[in-house]
Amino acid sequence: MRDFLSEIFFGGACYTCRGPARAVLCAECRAELPRLGAELCPRCALPSPRAALCGRCLAEPPDYDATIAALAYDFPADALIHALKFRGELSLAPFLGKLLLECISGDEKIDCVIPVPLSAARLRGRGYNQAVELARHLLPGKLDFSSCVRQRDAAPQMELPWAERQRNVRGAFGCERALAGLSVAVVDDVMTTGATLDEMARTLKRAGAARVVNWVVARTLPPA
Ligand SMILES: [Zn+2]
Ligand SMILES: [Zn+2]
Repeated sequence: MRDFLSEIFFGGACYTCRGPARAVLCAECRAELPRLGAELCPRCALPSPRAALCGRCLAEPPDYDATIAALAYDFPADALIHALKFRGELSLAPFLGKLLLECISGDEKIDCVIPVPLSAARLRGRGYNQAVELARHLLPGKLDFSSCVRQRDAAPQMELPWAERQRNVRGAFGCERALAGLSVAVVDDVMTTGATLDEMARTLKRAGAARVVNWVVARTLPPA
């Protein structure tokens, strides 16, 4: 149904080049999506020679155990995510969710999928949580939309220097479900510094999670 709606919504034009398309993007634009390289740190999904753990993850291991990202946060991935997140274009969610699903190994044993929650105030303002909309297209039987809450709104991470983002999100989340021994996938649209996802992982591990894996549509590469 959502696929059908998305075809109607886009009226047969590619979202990026406006040429004829039967899906969100035409075949050419889809082939040119900004993919991440093959050699990525398994923990944070940043480029790392021979796909070894990167220096940053070795020096300061994050609380999450692994990261899967479908795309680099570059055009048109940034435009598509911005439209989903801020312009209410929810029909982009199945397309972006499926791109992410294609990158997730069937061998990974996941017990539950938790989207990064929005605060109640932000959810009221936006009317939906883009991470929830993406998560609907990933392991539907394992979704948990309600156990994790965002207790307070931090200043938007985008407005802060990278170094301050970790402090900004400290204590932002709560988890009401016992996750003892479970493997949890956390879904978000974009991973930038990883501070928000690290705080989510810290919260989930305090609730007993044995393993926390980030599933994100796009990964921001660090400034050169
Ligand atoms: Zn196109
Ligand atoms: Zn790393």
